[in-house]
Amino acid sequence: MDLGETYQKDVSLRVSERRRLIAFWAGVSGLVINFFVCLVYTISGEASALLYAEVAVYAVFLSVIVWCAHSRYRVKEVFETSLLCVFAVFWGSTFVEGATGHTAAFDYPLVLFIPLFLVIMLDFKVLMSLAPVQAACVYFYTRNYAIESIGPNWTAADQSAYMIIMAAFSGFSFCALGIVSFARARADARMFDLVAEKEALASVDGLTGLMNRRSFMDNLRRLWTRQSKIEIAFIDLDHFKPLNDQYGHAIGDFVLCTIADRIAEVPGVMASARLGGDEFAVVLNTCAEAGAADKILADIHHAITADIHCEAGLLTLGASVGYASGVTLKQSLASMLRSADAAMRRAKSSRLGWVKFDPSVDNAALVSSTLEFELKAAIKNGQIKAAVQPIANAKTRQVVAYELLTRWTDSGFERDPSPKDFIPVAEKLGLLNDILWVTLDEALTHMQFDEQKLAVNVSPAQLLASDFLSSLEKVLARHGVSPSSITLEITEEVAFRNVDRNVAVLKEARALGMSIALDDFGTGYSSLSMLDTLPLDKLKIDQSFVRKSHQSEQSKSILLAAIRLAKQLGLQSCVEGIESREVAARVAVFGADTIQGYWIGRPQLVIHKVNELKAAS
Ligand code: C2E
Ligand code: MG
Ligand code: MG
Repeated sequence: MDLGETYQKDVSLRVSERRRLIAFWAGVSGLVINFFVCLVYTISGEASALLYAEVAVYAVFLSVIVWCAHSRYRVKEVFETSLLCVFAVFWGSTFVEGATGHTAAFDYPLVLFIPLFLVIMLDFKVLMSLAPVQAACVYFYTRNYAIESIGPNWTAADQSAYMIIMAAFSGFSFCALGIVSFARARADARMFDLVAEKEALASVDGLTGLMNRRSFMDNLRRLWTRQSKIEIAFIDLDHFKPLNDQYGHAIGDFVLCTIADRIAEVPGVMASARLGGDEFAVVLNTCAEAGAADKILADIHHAITADIHCEAGLLTLGASVGYASGVTLKQSLASMLRSADAAMRRAKSSRLGWVKFDPSVDNAALVSSTLEFELKAAIKNGQIKAAVQPIANAKTRQVVAYELLTRWTDSGFERDPSPKDFIPVAEKLGLLNDILWVTLDEALTHMQFDEQKLAVNVSPAQLLASDFLSSLEKVLARHGVSPSSITLEITEEVAFRNVDRNVAVLKEARALGMSIALDDFGTGYSSLSMLDTLPLDKLKIDQSFVRKSHQSEQSKSILLAAIRLAKQLGLQSCVEGIESREVAARVAVFGADTIQGYWIGRPQLVIHKVNELKAAS
């Protein structure tokens, strides 16, 4: 991928596009003028058969110009040839008129100036060749005119002088146009050279001379539309920053330049770029040979990690190289870039030198980085939706509450990410409260929570936000919902960091009337002292207990013990993961207060739930 060539191509494309537009509009304007001239002659009754024939021929040539410009077919050749033909027809018909005695002072300016308009867009050489033709045409037309219209007052010498002067004047006007056209073409060429030079400079990394990020991406996008498969590698130098700090920027720059030269020279590297800092990228050309990519990647890694001799002595650097290939019809450029990035990160974290993208290993990292990228937009675009799952009284099986769960709908991924995928990502990005306000607002807008309560999941990071409770109160007040209708479901992690602060917030929430439930009890460390530390009202016993209780008597006893423990601590118990009537009956016998699970009801989008409730009532 030669940059100079690329930009020259770009510039010549722009020039031909400009010519195409000029041809198109010149053709259209010509057709309009042709039509009106014909109309005026027809209305004034001066139209002759010759005029109609002439107008028809012009219309054909002008239409050809417009059609070819529109369909980008040989615009330059068609435009020039058609204009020359129109020029020839004009003179042909003018001579016929002259020879048949139709010359007039009124027509005279037409023969001088109309040809000028016809040839104005032609290039220098054509104009110079036409100058004598025009001079000759004007000379002979002037002779007809002189014989017919000026009469005997002029001597033959006067007439000759007049014919020569007019012919010379007209021929010269073509030469003048030619000179203008020549000057314009040169100015254009110079301007395009300057633009190409400026763009080439803006696309090159000033230090290494490789492509910079912008031009690398431009070229990649271009290649993506032309090739069926593209292979790239991202390269990140290891420990470059300490080297830069230790030896100074001059040595750092020297190292980067050396590495850039070495990367560019590796056989099979089709294009190379410095994306910034100590990051490089290459496009590979493996010619579809088996094992060729491995060899090129190993060569790149070897070229970078080979000794570098410089003023500071002998230096060696490590590098992490991540490779990915993309089939342009089947995937997006962005997904290939993310794959190469994920592979490069794996190469870095496992110190593997170079690795190829492997979906079975890299997909987790890829999913998380993709989700990070998309989640914010999803919240803004309304793809994050509220779902509710019923919680029922264990004995009467009446629904006493709903748990608010989040769903990512219409995500555009192959399958919509589940909360287990995106909740940790949202937590990392500090977006959990944004999600809560969106889903809570949706649930409170569409459903009533008086008799039935609403349980919301709250992670420790959410609790720590200084405005958590006040914002929650505001949302509730806006919907006229009492805080006593709300249960906060927290996990054991609340007790691991900032315990005092978390406990204070939970106590404040309780003081406002909310209940606190410990979610997924039994999955974490579940120390009994924690039950004492946290201000709790409810224990939600994790579904894993129910699942295991089928398997052994011992597990059944543990489930029973957990329910009893809640009772002894004065807490309500809720058993999660109830998937059948038998299990529901068993936990009711064990003394559970409430149950939750697919048998009672699966989580349902609030919008669907509302329709179901409406249909039932
Ligand atoms: P969780 O709070 O324990 O929610 C219950 C999870 O168990 C839900 O998964 C629910 O679909 C699933 N479940 C309920 N009944 C059954 C059953 O009978 N069988 C089985 N196999 N599963 C059942 P989901 O919706 O995928 O949520 C997973 C976790 O993600 C939740 O666990 C909760 O900790 C978290 N989460 C979901 N939405 C939010 C949210 O908006 N904010 C926060 N902070 N966390 C959320
Ligand atoms: Mg929960
Ligand atoms: Mg749970």
